[in-house]
Amino acid sequence: MTREISDIIMRKLAKHYGDVAPDLKYLDIYQLSVAVVLSAQTTDVQVNRVTPELFSRYPDFAALSAAKIRDVEKIVRSTGFYRNKAKNIVNLARRVTTDHGGKLPATRGKLMSLPGIGRKSANVILSVGFGIPALAVDTHIIRIAGRLGYTGSANPLTVEKAMVSFIPESMLTYAHLALIKHGRALCRARKPLCASCPVTGECCFDGKFS
Ligand code: SF4
Repeated sequence: MTREISDIIMRKLAKHYGDVAPDLKYLDIYQLSVAVVLSAQTTDVQVNRVTPELFSRYPDFAALSAAKIRDVEKIVRSTGFYRNKAKNIVNLARRVTTDHGGKLPATRGKLMSLPGIGRKSANVILSVGFGIPALAVDTHIIRIAGRLGYTGSANPLTVEKAMVSFIPESMLTYAHLALIKHGRALCRARKPLCASCPVTGECCFDGKFS
């Protein structure tokens, strides 16, 4: 990979996909952070099914911090791992309320010290929620990064560092959203639709013409 090729890839993806938005539905940073914690090991569609009731009953960190975990479990049950998720989001709200004056902190380190938030989630919250350059790496991005030749590693942190070294800061949030869309639409895990792909010419994937 070179910076020049990476720029071409980003330009072509932007032309092909245009504006991209997160699939998670949220109105503010509180809702985004809770939705991101709930999105572990499930789909954004599934999270979007439970959050309207959750946010209606608990509209902010203060309300969620006072919730009974049992009550929250009932609402988030269908997202899977619901006991852990309910505990995490209530404890997240309690920590934000007690340690951060009710405001979600806007640094990766502080976010990652909160319940249920790992590096990927922190990067989503930073980039999508706060507009701070960060690249959240999920399984789609690991797969596409390998196929496009950013890195041969499947380690999320290695992939993040490799991609951040080639993609300008101003493009990181877009790259995250566009690559996830690309992974769902064309660069699927099985049988990627390479004939319809806008970056076939830049791609190193051995199977692209098979
Ligand atoms: S050419 Fe195929 S493998 Fe390469 S990025 Fe496009 S869809 Fe993915």
